[in-house]
Amino acid sequence: MTMGLRVDVDSIADALAVPELLVLLEEFNSRATFFITTGPDQTLMNVSHYAGKNLLNIPLKRYIPGFFHSILHHNVESHPSLGILINSGHEIGLHGYRHYEWMNFLHKKNMMEVSNMIKTGCRLFENEFGFFPRSFSSPGFATSKEYLFALDNFGFDYSSDFYGFHPFYPQVGDKKFDTVQLPVRIPSPCELQSNETKIPGMIKELSEKDNFILYIHPSCELLYRRELLKDILESAGNTLTLREIYENTADL
Ligand SMILES: [Zn+2]
Repeated sequence: MTMGLRVDVDSIADALAVPELLVLLEEFNSRATFFITTGPDQTLMNVSHYAGKNLLNIPLKRYIPGFFHSILHHNVESHPSLGILINSGHEIGLHGYRHYEWMNFLHKKNMMEVSNMIKTGCRLFENEFGFFPRSFSSPGFATSKEYLFALDNFGFDYSSDFYGFHPFYPQVGDKKFDTVQLPVRIPSPCELQSNETKIPGMIKELSEKDNFILYIHPSCELLYRRELLKDILESAGNTLTLREIYENTADL
C-alpha cells in the first residue's frame, strides 16, 4: 500500500519550481502525477483563495516571480520549464482551463460551457505535450452536476475532483457517472497550515494499510515547506503516479 502524489501546476510560479521538484522526487525514488492547468496565469487574482483570511501567511513573494514570467509566457502550459516532464516517468494530466475562472465560476456554467472549457484545455494540452490528456482534475475541487455530465464525454481514464477515501463513481440522484474518481485524502500541507506537523505521522500510518492520495503545489510545499515535504516523501516510501493507483484499483 502506498501514497499517490498529485502535484497541481496552477500558475507560472508552480511551473518555475517543477525542475527543482523533479530533483527532489528523484532523490526519494518517488513518482507523481502533474496536473497542469491551461490558459493564462491568473493567480494573482486568486491569492485570497490560497491564503484564506491569513493573507500574510503565504508570502506574496511566492507569486511575484510568476507574475513577471507570465508577462513573457502567457499560458501556464506553454512555460518552458514544463518540457522536462515529458518522458520523465511521471504522469502528466490536465488541470482544466483558466484556473481562476474555473474554480470561482464553474457552478454558474451550463454543460455546454463546461464542455467547451474542457475541450479548449485538451487542445492546448495536446499542442504542448503531444498527446491527448488521459486524466483530469478540476481546479479548486470545483464540481457540479453539469460538470460531471460534461466530463463523461471526454473518456478520461480517471479524474480527481473530490476529497475522500477510496476510488468511486459519482452518483447524483439515480444518475451514476462513468468516470472513476480518485479522491484526495490529504490536503496540501500549505492549506493545512497549523496541522501540518502531524502529516508525516499520518502518512506513515496510512501507508501501512491503504492506498491514498496527497496533493501539493510546487510553488508552496517545495519552496516554503521543503523539510516537511522531505519528511512526507520519506514517510511514504516510494510514491506513485495516480495512474498507478488507478491501475491497482480493485473492481468497483
Ligand atoms: Zn489547482
